[in-house]
Parts: sequence; C-alpha cells; structure tokens
Amino acid sequence: MSHPNRQCVIAGNWKMYKTFDEAVAFLKELIPLVQETSRKVYLAVPFTLIRPMHELAKDSKVEIGAQNMHDSSEGAFTGEIAGKMLKEAGANFVILGHSERRHLFNESNAFINKKVKRAIIDGLQPLLCIGETEEEREAGKTEQVLQTQLKESLEGLDANQLKNLIIAYEPVWAIGSSNPATPEIAQEAHLICRNFLTQHLNEEFAQQLVILYGGSVRPQNAKSFLEQVDIDGLLVGGASLSVDSFSKIVND
Ligand code: PEP
Repeated sequence: MSHPNRQCVIAGNWKMYKTFDEAVAFLKELIPLVQETSRKVYLAVPFTLIRPMHELAKDSKVEIGAQNMHDSSEGAFTGEIAGKMLKEAGANFVILGHSERRHLFNESNAFINKKVKRAIIDGLQPLLCIGETEEEREAGKTEQVLQTQLKESLEGLDANQLKNLIIAYEPVWAIGSSNPATPEIAQEAHLICRNFLTQHLNEEFAQQLVILYGGSVRPQNAKSFLEQVDIDGLLVGGASLSVDSFSKIVND
C-alpha cells in the first residue's frame, strides 16, 4: 500500500478534449460518485473550462487545475496564459512538463524550471511530469534521465518552496499507448525519484512528497499501482474522459 502519511491523489488530464456542455455533464455525474472518497480528486481541464468547472465543483471533492502556463507574470506572448490568470479563474494546480509539452512543443527542463518557480509565486500547486523515452530505457539511461529532469526542473528551489510539489512519473512509452509500465517498473522509478530528492533536498521532504504514476492507467490496473509503497496516486489521461472509468479508478 502507498505510504499512510502521504495523501493519495487521483488526477485526470483532459488534454484538448471536451466542450463546455460535455464538461458540465461529466462533472455533474462525477461529483456524487466521488463524494465519499478519502482521496484527492484533481481534474486538469482546458483553459476555457477552468472557471465554469471550478464553480460547479465548489463544495465537492473535485479540484480543478490547468495543463500548462507561461513562466512570465504577463507580457507580449500571444496565445500564452499566465499563472495568475489561471489562479483567478479557479485553478488550484497546474501540470508542468507533461511529455506532450516536452516533445511536441520542445519544452526544456530550464523552461519548465522557470514555470515551476512562477507557479509557486502565483500560488498554484505544481504537478511536475518527468519520464524517460523508450530509447532511453533501452539504453539503460532511465535513472540518469529522471535525475537530470528532477535536478534541472527544480533548480534553485528549496524544500520549503517545494512543499506542495507533486511529481508524476510518466514513462513516455506508456502514455496513451495501452502499454502501461508494470507496477514493479513504476515502483522502481518512484524510488529513484524519492532517493534522489532525499540527497538533493532532504529526507523529510522526500518522504512527504506525493509521487503519481501515469501512463495507460485503467480501472483494471489502477489498484496494482496503488499497492506499491512509493506510488501515492495516479495521473490519468484517456481514462479520465469517461465518468465511468475515472470514478472507478478514484473509488477502487
Ligand atoms: C497523460 O496524458 O498524462 C496520460 C498518462 O495519458 P494516458 O493515461 O492516456 O496514458
């Protein structure tokens, strides 16, 4: 079982899916189904849905967040969004460094580091994604890749500043692939992260840090990940788009 002192978080990532009407229908159905859970339920929704979803989720177990933000507080960055705008709209957390941002939009660890810093300034809980590609795993570089991503993405931040940080270990080869990591592979990677952060920051920080697994999580496999001692929750993409599968994962 995951550690008793760490809060279990089940986070959905809707990516670029759902219109307003679809989102309202989803949330109205989901809220009563997850009302009794002791887990935290996060939903990272498209920007335009943050305010209405936040309003609808008030007094429920569901917390609304964003999937990305810019690192500046404001400025001439056409098409971008600032952390304070997300916060004002009702976002509590923000996903940063998702593999789709890293690979499709060429986001570097240095850029992600600036975003983590800005999210903290703006009062948003950073949910930092890391993970190796298939080639990196096959070349035996998983540990090195995870450590570098953690080191460079968290550069210049101390344990106190990072006290609300959540890490999501998402092997790139497992995302949207129907090819999840085995629970053992995920546990090993989570332990690498926890051990690295023990050295890089301190033991107390690393022991209280919530680390999620993400990559083709489904109702059928969710429990097997949550049974691992260093897996504190799940980041769910595809299966968070259906109330049935997402609520089953939350309540499993
Ligand atoms: C994700 O996008 O973060 C993710 C884990 O997607 P999926 O669950 O669809 O693999």
